[in-house]
Amino acid sequence: MNQVIFDYTRQDASGASCTAHAWAKVPEPLTGDQKEQWKERAKALLKQHDAVLVAHYYVDGDLQDLALETGGCVADSLEMARFGRDHPSKTLVVAGVRFMGESAKILSPDKRVLMPDLDATCSLDLGCPPEDFAAFCDAHPDRKVVVYANTSAAVKARADWMVTSSCALAIVQHLKDQGEKILWAPDRHLGRYIQEQTGADMLMWNGACIVHDEFKGVELELLRQEHPGAKVLVHPESPRSVVALADVVGSTSQLLNAVVQSEAQTFIVATDNGILHRMRQLAPHKTLIEAPTAGNSATCKSCAHCPWMAMNALQGVVGCLEHGSGEITVPEPVRSEALGCIQRMLDFVARNPASIARPAQGFVPNVGAA
Ligand code: SF4
Repeated sequence: MNQVIFDYTRQDASGASCTAHAWAKVPEPLTGDQKEQWKERAKALLKQHDAVLVAHYYVDGDLQDLALETGGCVADSLEMARFGRDHPSKTLVVAGVRFMGESAKILSPDKRVLMPDLDATCSLDLGCPPEDFAAFCDAHPDRKVVVYANTSAAVKARADWMVTSSCALAIVQHLKDQGEKILWAPDRHLGRYIQEQTGADMLMWNGACIVHDEFKGVELELLRQEHPGAKVLVHPESPRSVVALADVVGSTSQLLNAVVQSEAQTFIVATDNGILHRMRQLAPHKTLIEAPTAGNSATCKSCAHCPWMAMNALQGVVGCLEHGSGEITVPEPVRSEALGCIQRMLDFVARNPASIARPAQGFVPNVGAA
C-alpha cells in the first residue's frame, strides 16, 4: 500500500474546519493480467452474493467498468443513492467514500451495504464534526439547515435538507422563495456559488474539498489561452476564481453531459480526474485536458485525484464480498433521523424532475447518464 498523509490545517476563527493528519492508503497498481483475474473473481462473487456494484465517477476506471459490466451503475452521489435503493439485490457494494455507503444504508436498512475500504473518507465529512455542527445549529435556530451529501449520518440527522451538487441550486432557490434563511454546511465554495446564484441568506460552515480547493484560476487562465477553442467545465466545489472562468458549472453528471452534448471538441475539466474515464468512453473523439492544480507546493498531494476515492480497488471489492468486511452500519435513531433530510431531497427531485436540469451556468440538459 502507498500511504498518503495529509497535514491540512485550515481553521476559521472557531477552529471548525480541520482535517489535519487524515490519511489514505492507496493500493498498489495491478498489471493487466492481475486486473483481469481480480475482475473475474469480483464478477463471480457479485453473482454468488446477489450483490450489485454502485460506483462513483471518481473511482478507478476498472471499478467503473466492472460496475457497468455486471448490471451496476456509475453515477454521482444522487444517482448512487437512488440506484441502490431501487435495485433488487440484497447486497450493495458501494465504491466511493464513506458518506456514500452511509447514505445507501440509510435508504436501504434491510440491505447489506459493503465498501471496499471503510477508511475511504472525505475532507468535507472530516471537517464537519457532528458535535461542533450541532452547536452551530443550536446557535441559529431560526435557519433551515441544509447540508451537502458529503457529511456523516450524524450531521445529516441534524439537518432539514440534504442536497447534492445536482439539485442544490433548485432546493436553495425553493427555500428562499418560501422566505427561509439557510444554515449551509460544509463546502464553503459550493455554498458561496449557490448564494451568488440565488441571492439566498446563507450562513456558511467553513469546509472544503481538498481536491477542488487546489484548482487555481491563474493557472487555468494560462491553460485556456493555450487552448482558445476549449470549453472550461468546473465543479462548483472549486474556488471562485476558477468558477469565474467556467463555460459550464455543474455536478459530475452535468459536466459529463456537457462533454457528450456540446458541439465543442476540446474541454478543460476542473473536477477529480477520475471522471475522465467515463467522459472518454462516452465521447471518445473529444479532447479532454485536466485543469491545473497548484502542483508540488500545494497542500493537496493528490493532483486532482481524491486519495480516498483512490482507495477503492478491485481487490477491495473481492475482499469485502469474500470476508463480509467493510460493512456499513448506521445505528438508530441516527439512521431514521438522517433519512428525513435525504427523503425530503428525493421527494423534491421526484416532484420537480427539471430541478436537476436547472440551468447552472452554461448548463446542458441531463441525459440521464448515471
Ligand atoms: S473529491 Fe473531495 S468532495 Fe469528493 S470525496 Fe474526495 S475529498 Fe470529498
